[in-house]
This record gives sequence, C-alpha cells and structure tokens, in this order.
Amino acid sequence: MLKDEQFKEVIEKYPVKITKYLSRLIKKSPAVAKQFLPSRDELKSIGIHRPWVGKVETGIYGLERMYGDRCIIMPINQCPAYCRHCVRKDYLVRSKRAMTYEEIEKALNYIKKHTEIKEVLITGGDPLMDIRRLGYIIKGLRKIKHIGPIRIGTRSIMYDPQRINNKFVRVIKKYHDYREGKPIEISPQFNHPDELTKESIKACRKLIDAGIRLYNQSVLLRGVNDDVKILAELFRKLREIGVEIHYLYHCASVEGADHFRTRVEKGIEIKRIFAGGYLSGRCNPRYIILTPVGKMEPMIDGEILGRKGKILIVKTPYTKKQFIKIDPKFKLPGGCKVDKDDFIICEYLDGA
Ligand code: SF4
Repeated sequence: MLKDEQFKEVIEKYPVKITKYLSRLIKKSPAVAKQFLPSRDELKSIGIHRPWVGKVETGIYGLERMYGDRCIIMPINQCPAYCRHCVRKDYLVRSKRAMTYEEIEKALNYIKKHTEIKEVLITGGDPLMDIRRLGYIIKGLRKIKHIGPIRIGTRSIMYDPQRINNKFVRVIKKYHDYREGKPIEISPQFNHPDELTKESIKACRKLIDAGIRLYNQSVLLRGVNDDVKILAELFRKLREIGVEIHYLYHCASVEGADHFRTRVEKGIEIKRIFAGGYLSGRCNPRYIILTPVGKMEPMIDGEILGRKGKILIVKTPYTKKQFIKIDPKFKLPGGCKVDKDDFIICEYLDGA
C-alpha cells in the first residue's frame, strides 16, 4: 500500500482512471492490477517524457506524420482507463484537449493534398471515447480516394469491452470495404491471458463477425508478462479467438514506468525460444523497440551496435533523407547521428 503523501504525489503526476469492469478484474488478477493501480515506483525519475521525439510536425494539432505513406490522427488524449506503462502517462499529456472539428477538417485537407499518404492510424488516447468524432474522421477519410486502410488503436476491448456496442460496430462496418482495398483494422492491446475474459472475447468476436480484422500489440512488462509460458498462453488464445498477433513492444523508456522495463535482451531471448519450436510461427509476434525515430526490430531490420552502461547504441533502418523528404526542416533528435550510409544511429535507454 502507498502512504497517503506518496499516493497523492503519484496520482497528481500520473492520473489514475479505472473502469467498473476493470475494478472487478483487478481483484481477480494481480497482472491486471499491476498495469492499472498506482505504485510508488512511478516516482523514480528514470526515463524520458516523450520517448518517440523524432516525429515529423505537420503544424496541425492532433496530426502527426511518421513515415512517408502513413500518418496518425489523435482526436483525443484521454482513455477510459490509464495504463501505468503508457507513453502518454504524464498529467500534462493527459490534460491536453481534444481536436476541434475545425482541426479535424484541417487534418483531412492535409491528407487530401498529400497523395503519398495511403494509410491512417487513429489513436490517442483512446478514440472510442468519442464515437461521434471518430465517425466524423472515418467518414472524412473515406472521401479521400488515395486512403486505403484505416487503423484504430484502442484498448477499450480489454478494459471496457461494453464500448464495443452495436452503435460502434455499425459505424465501423459502414466504412469497412476490404473488397475495394479500404479495410478498417482495429488494434487492441492484450498483455496477459487474464485479460481474455468472457466479456473481452465477446467484444473481439463481435468485431471479427462483422468482418473487421483485429491485430494485437502487446507490451513486454516486467512482473506482468516477461515469461515465456505466460506470453505463449496469451498468443495461443488470441490466435484461437481469431486475433492476429502483431507486435510485442519492449516497454518504452517513459518516465514513471521504469519498474516495468526489462532489458531488451529479455524480449530477444523470449523470441528465440518461441522461434526454436516452442510456439507456432503463426503466433510469434515481431519484437519491437521504440527508438527516437521510429519502431525497429532488433537483429532483423535494425542492429544493436554496442552498449555504454545502460545505453544501447542502435542502428535504425531509417535514413535522415527520408525524414527530410517529408519535412525539409527535420532535425535529428538528441543523441542521434547518421552513419556513412545516412542510416540514423540512436541511443536507447535499456531496462533492468
Ligand atoms: S490505452 Fe493506450 S493510450 Fe490509453 S493509457 Fe493505455 S497505453 Fe496509454
């Protein structure tokens, strides 16, 4: 238990929010409790506020570019519940306002003009917190010919499965047309088998039955799922339900989440065991670290060049040229440089 003053300090810095459904699940599952209940460990100031700083500014509130052919719309910064390992856990980020409809229109116009953008991710926060705004964005995107897949990042399926109601499914189905190359895909975040309850499985099935593809993105969390058996059980179950197993993220180096972070090597070890015949290749996720310039799969599309204490030196698959093409004013984030072939080399804080 936290002492009163510590509790106050933690929740003032990192707000706490739990759904009714979660409060029941937390009582049954220590792994779920650890992901949502505040801890004094959050007061350790290790990590950085915004681990992914290399995004390209568009000048439009709520619209970010990451790579050439994709962009992100973040209509809302709040979620129905707050994960303690979230990269946006800080009070200042949580209290940022939602996009106005005028800003959404500006974002849609930007996308319309940039015909090289083929795919849009709508995330946040949790975009399911405002179905009207979400529906408005999807409708607007569907009027843009060059946009194919629309992806929605939401953890509601896990912490508030009732949000996957008929109204939501109707909105999604209306704009999901995979035959025309215009699918809507939804990404939940399941981290532990305890999260696959009757209710959350029902929510997944409701979407799958409506023809929507679900692809899961888990986070490797120390003391929650940093274990081969736990993750194998999670991935097998997800596969049985029909959810694609996509990414396993190394927990980002966000301040206040250091106690969740394993060493990068831990995830590599787990992947090696999976690949060595332990788990079907159909449920073996890509293991990803979030560098300051974007995602990277160590040993596959990027390389760990060395280590200086807790800092890993990583060679990313990104070149400076590709960012400059999107934004001529792009500057490398601190701690990054380019090698002779223009690939960006970053410093990456390892976990424990
Ligand atoms: S659902 Fe995603 S954005 Fe919301 S608190 Fe959890 S990790 Fe953060």
